[in-house]
Amino acid sequence: MDQSRTRLVMGNWKMHGSLAENTVLLDGLLAGAARVQGTQVAVCVPFPYLAQARQALVGSPIGWGAQDISTHERGAYTGEVSAAMLADFGVSWVLCGHSERRALHGETSRQVAEKAVAALGAGLAPVVCVGETLADRDAGQAESIIAEQLAPVLALGADALARLVIAYEPVWAIGTGRTATPDQAQAVHAFIRAALTRHGAGQTRVLYGGSVKAANAASLFAQPDIDGALVGGAALVAEEFLNIAAAVA
Ligand code: PEP
Repeated sequence: MDQSRTRLVMGNWKMHGSLAENTVLLDGLLAGAARVQGTQVAVCVPFPYLAQARQALVGSPIGWGAQDISTHERGAYTGEVSAAMLADFGVSWVLCGHSERRALHGETSRQVAEKAVAALGAGLAPVVCVGETLADRDAGQAESIIAEQLAPVLALGADALARLVIAYEPVWAIGTGRTATPDQAQAVHAFIRAALTRHGAGQTRVLYGGSVKAANAASLFAQPDIDGALVGGAALVAEEFLNIAAAVA
Protein backbone atom coordinates (compact mmCIF):
# COMPACT_ATOMS: atom_id res chain seq x y z
CA MET A 1 0.00 0.00 0.00
CA ASP A 2 0.88 3.65 -0.29
CA GLN A 3 2.57 4.61 2.97
CA SER A 4 1.11 8.12 2.82
CA ARG A 5 -2.31 6.70 3.70
CA THR A 6 -2.72 5.61 7.32
CA ARG A 7 -3.63 1.95 7.40
CA LEU A 8 -6.95 0.99 8.94
CA VAL A 9 -8.18 -2.37 10.17
CA MET A 10 -11.80 -2.41 11.25
CA GLY A 11 -13.81 -5.20 12.82
CA ASN A 12 -17.49 -5.74 12.05
CA TRP A 13 -19.00 -7.75 14.87
CA LYS A 14 -22.31 -8.05 12.99
CA MET A 15 -25.06 -9.40 15.28
CA HIS A 16 -22.72 -11.23 17.62
CA GLY A 17 -21.83 -10.73 21.24
CA SER A 18 -23.23 -10.26 24.71
CA LEU A 19 -22.10 -8.11 27.61
CA ALA A 20 -20.05 -11.01 28.94
CA GLU A 21 -18.58 -12.10 25.58
CA ASN A 22 -17.75 -8.51 24.65
CA THR A 23 -15.89 -8.00 27.92
CA VAL A 24 -13.59 -10.89 27.06
CA LEU A 25 -13.08 -9.65 23.51
CA LEU A 26 -12.50 -6.00 24.47
CA ASP A 27 -10.11 -6.98 27.26
CA GLY A 28 -8.18 -9.11 24.79
CA LEU A 29 -7.99 -6.27 22.29
CA LEU A 30 -6.77 -3.84 24.93
CA ALA A 31 -4.19 -6.29 26.23
CA GLY A 32 -2.65 -6.68 22.78
CA ALA A 33 -3.21 -3.24 21.30
CA ALA A 34 0.36 -2.10 21.92
CA ARG A 35 1.77 -4.53 19.38
CA VAL A 36 -0.15 -2.88 16.54
CA GLN A 37 1.89 0.16 15.62
CA GLY A 38 1.10 2.71 12.95
CA THR A 39 -2.25 1.18 12.01
CA GLN A 40 -5.63 2.55 13.05
CA VAL A 41 -7.81 -0.15 14.62
CA ALA A 42 -11.54 0.04 15.35
CA VAL A 43 -14.51 -2.23 16.00
CA CYS A 44 -18.08 -1.71 14.78
CA VAL A 45 -20.37 -3.15 17.43
CA PRO A 46 -24.15 -3.68 17.65
CA PHE A 47 -26.01 -0.55 18.83
CA PRO A 48 -26.80 -1.83 22.36
CA TYR A 49 -23.11 -2.33 23.05
CA LEU A 50 -21.88 1.12 22.03
CA ALA A 51 -21.86 2.26 25.65
CA GLN A 52 -19.87 -0.80 26.66
CA ALA A 53 -17.40 -0.28 23.82
CA ARG A 54 -16.98 3.37 24.72
CA GLN A 55 -16.40 2.62 28.37
CA ALA A 56 -13.80 -0.03 27.57
CA LEU A 57 -12.00 1.68 24.72
CA VAL A 58 -12.02 5.38 25.58
CA GLY A 59 -8.45 6.61 25.94
CA SER A 60 -7.09 3.51 24.16
CA PRO A 61 -5.68 3.34 20.62
CA ILE A 62 -8.73 1.32 19.51
CA GLY A 63 -11.73 3.19 18.10
CA TRP A 64 -15.35 2.11 17.99
CA GLY A 65 -18.13 2.46 15.50
CA ALA A 66 -21.64 1.41 14.52
CA GLN A 67 -22.90 -0.84 11.75
CA ASP A 68 -25.68 1.35 10.38
CA ILE A 69 -27.15 4.85 10.64
CA SER A 70 -30.45 6.50 9.81
CA THR A 71 -30.68 9.00 6.97
CA HIS A 72 -33.09 11.01 9.17
CA GLU A 73 -32.15 13.44 11.91
CA ARG A 74 -35.02 12.60 14.29
CA GLY A 75 -38.69 11.74 14.29
CA ALA A 76 -41.12 8.88 13.76
CA TYR A 77 -38.64 6.30 12.48
CA THR A 78 -39.14 3.38 14.85
CA GLY A 79 -36.06 1.25 15.25
CA GLU A 80 -33.69 3.67 13.58
CA VAL A 81 -30.65 5.31 15.16
CA SER A 82 -29.56 8.82 14.18
CA ALA A 83 -26.11 10.25 13.60
CA ALA A 84 -26.46 12.49 16.66
CA MET A 85 -27.28 9.46 18.82
CA LEU A 86 -24.15 7.71 17.59
CA ALA A 87 -22.12 10.85 18.28
CA ASP A 88 -23.49 10.81 21.83
CA PHE A 89 -21.67 7.53 22.31
CA GLY A 90 -18.36 8.84 21.00
CA VAL A 91 -18.64 6.87 17.77
CA SER A 92 -16.00 7.71 15.17
CA TRP A 93 -16.95 5.27 12.39
CA VAL A 94 -20.12 3.93 10.86
CA LEU A 95 -20.59 1.25 8.22
CA CYS A 96 -22.88 2.40 5.40
CA GLY A 97 -24.37 -0.02 2.91
CA HIS A 98 -22.84 -3.26 4.11
CA SER A 99 -23.84 -5.95 1.60
CA GLU A 100 -26.03 -7.62 4.22
CA ARG A 101 -28.01 -4.38 4.54
CA ARG A 102 -28.23 -3.95 0.78
CA ALA A 103 -29.35 -7.58 0.30
CA LEU A 104 -31.56 -8.12 3.36
CA HIS A 105 -32.95 -4.62 3.83
CA GLY A 106 -33.05 -3.38 0.26
CA GLU A 107 -30.75 -0.42 0.82
CA THR A 108 -30.14 1.38 -2.44
CA SER A 109 -26.91 3.07 -3.45
CA ARG A 110 -28.67 6.44 -3.15
CA GLN A 111 -29.77 5.66 0.42
CA VAL A 112 -26.26 4.53 1.25
CA ALA A 113 -24.90 7.88 0.06
CA GLU A 114 -27.56 9.63 2.17
CA LYS A 115 -26.36 7.65 5.18
CA ALA A 116 -22.82 8.80 4.47
CA VAL A 117 -24.05 12.40 4.37
CA ALA A 118 -25.86 11.95 7.70
CA ALA A 119 -22.70 10.53 9.26
CA LEU A 120 -20.47 13.29 7.93
CA GLY A 121 -22.89 15.89 9.24
CA ALA A 122 -22.32 14.62 12.77
CA GLY A 123 -18.56 14.37 12.38
CA LEU A 124 -18.52 10.58 11.95
CA ALA A 125 -16.48 8.86 9.27
CA PRO A 126 -18.62 6.68 6.99
CA VAL A 127 -17.19 3.39 5.76
CA VAL A 128 -19.10 2.92 2.51
CA CYS A 129 -19.25 -0.74 1.49
CA VAL A 130 -19.41 -1.81 -2.14
CA GLY A 131 -19.02 -5.15 -3.86
CA GLU A 132 -20.37 -7.46 -6.51
CA THR A 133 -22.10 -10.82 -6.19
CA LEU A 134 -20.67 -13.95 -7.75
CA ALA A 135 -23.32 -13.75 -10.48
CA ASP A 136 -22.22 -10.17 -11.24
CA ARG A 137 -18.59 -11.28 -11.44
CA ASP A 138 -19.34 -14.31 -13.59
CA ALA A 139 -21.31 -12.07 -15.94
CA GLY A 140 -18.30 -9.74 -16.26
CA GLN A 141 -20.19 -6.99 -14.48
CA ALA A 142 -18.16 -6.53 -11.31
CA GLU A 143 -16.86 -3.09 -12.30
CA SER A 144 -20.18 -1.79 -13.61
CA ILE A 145 -21.96 -2.85 -10.40
CA ILE A 146 -19.31 -1.18 -8.26
CA ALA A 147 -19.45 1.95 -10.43
CA GLU A 148 -23.22 2.09 -9.88
CA GLN A 149 -22.78 1.66 -6.12
CA LEU A 150 -20.08 4.33 -6.00
CA ALA A 151 -21.74 6.92 -8.24
CA PRO A 152 -23.92 8.71 -5.63
CA VAL A 153 -21.03 8.67 -3.16
CA LEU A 154 -18.58 10.12 -5.68
CA ALA A 155 -21.14 12.83 -6.41
CA LEU A 156 -20.75 14.05 -2.82
CA GLY A 157 -17.52 15.72 -3.93
CA ALA A 158 -13.87 15.77 -2.95
CA ASP A 159 -14.30 17.27 0.53
CA ALA A 160 -16.75 14.56 1.59
CA LEU A 161 -14.71 11.82 -0.08
CA ALA A 162 -11.62 12.89 1.84
CA ARG A 163 -13.50 12.25 5.10
CA LEU A 164 -14.87 8.81 4.32
CA VAL A 165 -13.51 5.34 3.67
CA ILE A 166 -14.54 2.87 0.97
CA ALA A 167 -14.62 -0.85 1.73
CA TYR A 168 -14.54 -3.23 -1.23
CA GLU A 169 -16.24 -6.42 -0.11
CA PRO A 170 -17.03 -8.93 -2.85
CA VAL A 171 -20.28 -10.51 -1.65
CA TRP A 172 -19.04 -13.97 -2.62
CA ALA A 173 -16.14 -13.62 -0.20
CA ILE A 174 -18.06 -12.44 2.87
CA GLY A 175 -18.36 -15.10 5.53
CA THR A 176 -17.68 -17.81 2.96
CA GLY A 177 -14.05 -18.55 3.70
CA ARG A 178 -13.39 -17.75 0.03
CA THR A 179 -11.11 -14.71 -0.18
CA ALA A 180 -10.44 -12.77 -3.34
CA THR A 181 -6.88 -13.40 -4.46
CA PRO A 182 -4.57 -10.44 -3.89
CA ASP A 183 -4.56 -9.85 -7.67
CA GLN A 184 -8.37 -9.96 -7.91
CA ALA A 185 -8.72 -7.57 -5.00
CA GLN A 186 -6.01 -5.21 -6.27
CA ALA A 187 -7.66 -5.01 -9.71
CA VAL A 188 -10.91 -3.77 -8.17
CA HIS A 189 -9.12 -1.50 -5.70
CA ALA A 190 -7.24 0.10 -8.61
CA PHE A 191 -10.58 0.61 -10.38
CA ILE A 192 -12.01 2.29 -7.25
CA ARG A 193 -8.84 4.34 -6.78
CA ALA A 194 -9.07 5.62 -10.34
CA ALA A 195 -12.68 6.68 -9.77
CA LEU A 196 -11.74 8.45 -6.53
CA THR A 197 -8.80 10.15 -8.24
CA ARG A 198 -11.07 11.45 -11.01
CA HIS A 199 -13.13 13.03 -8.23
CA GLY A 200 -10.15 14.65 -6.54
CA ALA A 201 -9.92 12.08 -3.75
CA GLY A 202 -7.09 9.74 -4.70
CA GLN A 203 -5.96 9.52 -1.08
CA THR A 204 -9.28 8.20 0.26
CA ARG A 205 -8.63 4.89 1.92
CA VAL A 206 -9.97 1.71 0.33
CA LEU A 207 -10.26 -1.33 2.60
CA TYR A 208 -10.68 -4.92 1.47
CA GLY A 209 -13.21 -7.17 3.19
CA GLY A 210 -14.17 -10.80 2.70
CA SER A 211 -12.85 -13.68 4.78
CA VAL A 212 -9.71 -11.81 5.81
CA LYS A 213 -7.67 -13.79 8.34
CA ALA A 214 -4.20 -13.47 9.80
CA ALA A 215 -3.05 -16.11 7.31
CA ASN A 216 -4.05 -14.14 4.20
CA ALA A 217 -3.81 -10.56 5.48
CA ALA A 218 -0.19 -9.80 4.63
CA SER A 219 -0.52 -10.76 0.95
CA LEU A 220 -3.62 -8.57 0.61
CA PHE A 221 -2.02 -5.65 2.42
CA ALA A 222 1.03 -5.89 0.13
CA GLN A 223 -1.12 -4.65 -2.77
CA PRO A 224 -0.59 -0.98 -3.62
CA ASP A 225 -4.23 0.08 -3.43
CA ILE A 226 -5.33 -1.92 -0.38
CA ASP A 227 -5.19 0.34 2.66
CA GLY A 228 -6.42 -2.10 5.29
CA ALA A 229 -9.31 -4.43 5.95
CA LEU A 230 -12.89 -4.70 7.11
CA VAL A 231 -13.01 -7.95 9.05
CA GLY A 232 -16.11 -9.91 10.06
CA GLY A 233 -15.74 -13.38 11.57
CA ALA A 234 -12.07 -13.05 12.41
CA ALA A 235 -12.79 -9.88 14.38
CA LEU A 236 -14.57 -11.92 17.05
CA VAL A 237 -11.31 -13.41 18.33
CA ALA A 238 -8.98 -10.81 19.80
CA GLU A 239 -5.74 -12.60 18.96
CA GLU A 240 -6.74 -13.26 15.35
CA PHE A 241 -7.97 -9.70 14.82
CA LEU A 242 -4.81 -8.21 16.29
CA ASN A 243 -2.71 -10.55 14.16
CA ILE A 244 -4.49 -9.19 11.09
CA ALA A 245 -3.82 -5.61 12.21
CA ALA A 246 -0.19 -6.49 12.91
CA ALA A 247 0.15 -7.97 9.41
CA VAL A 248 -0.27 -4.58 7.81
CA ALA A 249 3.29 -3.91 6.69
C1 PEP B 1 -17.88 -8.35 6.82
O1 PEP B 1 -18.78 -8.66 7.58
O2 PEP B 1 -17.79 -7.19 6.43
C2 PEP B 1 -16.92 -9.38 6.42
C3 PEP B 1 -15.97 -9.06 5.58
O3 PEP B 1 -17.09 -10.62 6.97
P1 PEP B 1 -16.03 -11.85 6.92
O4 PEP B 1 -14.68 -11.28 7.28
O5 PEP B 1 -16.54 -12.82 7.94
O6 PEP B 1 -16.06 -12.40 5.54
